[in-house]
Amino acid sequence: MNTTAKASLIESAQQQLADIDRVMVELDHFKKQTQRLDLMNRLHARVAGVLSLSGMIEAYSVWLTPLVEHELIGYHNTTRNKQHLFCSGHGPNRRRAIAFAEQLIESESSCEGIYRDDHGHYAHKWLMEKAGDAGIFLLLQKGRKLTDEEAELINDSLIILNDSLTRALDYEDLFERASNDPLTGLANRRAFDERIHGMMDSARRYKNALTMLSMDLDKFKDINDNLGHLAGDKVLKSIAAVLQNAVRSSDLLVRMGGDEFILVLDNTDKCNARILAERLVRSIDELDIRADDETKLGISIGLAQLEEGENLQAWLERADDILYHAKSEGRSRVAVR
Ligand code: GH3
Ligand code: MG
Repeated sequence: MNTTAKASLIESAQQQLADIDRVMVELDHFKKQTQRLDLMNRLHARVAGVLSLSGMIEAYSVWLTPLVEHELIGYHNTTRNKQHLFCSGHGPNRRRAIAFAEQLIESESSCEGIYRDDHGHYAHKWLMEKAGDAGIFLLLQKGRKLTDEEAELINDSLIILNDSLTRALDYEDLFERASNDPLTGLANRRAFDERIHGMMDSARRYKNALTMLSMDLDKFKDINDNLGHLAGDKVLKSIAAVLQNAVRSSDLLVRMGGDEFILVLDNTDKCNARILAERLVRSIDELDIRADDETKLGISIGLAQLEEGENLQAWLERADDILYHAKSEGRSRVAVR
């Protein structure tokens, strides 16, 4: 073989090697893309059926855990007034991580980026414009920042999470609208039906007292007649606020309709319930809401402790009968039987 032929052979072999290298790089690129797609599909599958904000953030954390070590994931939405922090740690470290996350959430001005606290926590903060205007996503790591590759993976995953979060938030809004009275914001009759059986079952199981206050405003029609329906609505709102202020989260306060409210006091017998009921009557009396010089708004309350073997219907009717006594005995008072 002459020199020219040899050189041409070498050149061709080098060209083939370069082609193989290029194909290998492309293959590697495709492999990475396929793996990324597979991960995103898994994220899709994990969040597809989740319908609550807390469930969504927790499902995301479960998906992310084997890929990126993290301590806390948080989501905060100012527009919808929703927040959920999911922290996997325990003890003082957990408290510190949560305190740092809350501090970052509160400082609305702090934008996307990486933050570090005095205890060596790193927080990465993303703004998720699409998920209800003001989503903030935090991820805390003790001792180190995310690598570029980890941050890129999270960036990609947030596109999927954005849509799923929006869906979960819409569902939560819908559910809240269906369970709350739009005027006062209190639970409505539907929410009452949903919760009351659970409260009755648990009171029976743990032998706890359960007392119902059946309440109806006195002379409310006169407010509407003399001051107008809008003023009546305002009065209903302020009464609801007074009632809401007096109850614990374990109690069930409901606007049953019109000017009728029900309050079910968990783990409370009729003696203790009476003290609260008397206080409610006084608080509403002190609001001094008048339809005219002679007509003052009040509240009448019928109080009935759940009896052994009594069903919901019988209990409701008994409380209503007792309320009728409070009305017929002069209104703005508590009746107990
Ligand atoms: P009593 O002392 O016997 O309870 O009489 P009352 O004047 O309070 O009248 P009653 O409880 O019989 O009727 C309640 C009224 O509340 C009747 C209805 O027109 C009015 N109402 C019901 N829902 C609303 C509402 O959402 N807004 C307003 N403004 N009024 C309402
Ligand atoms: Mg009334």
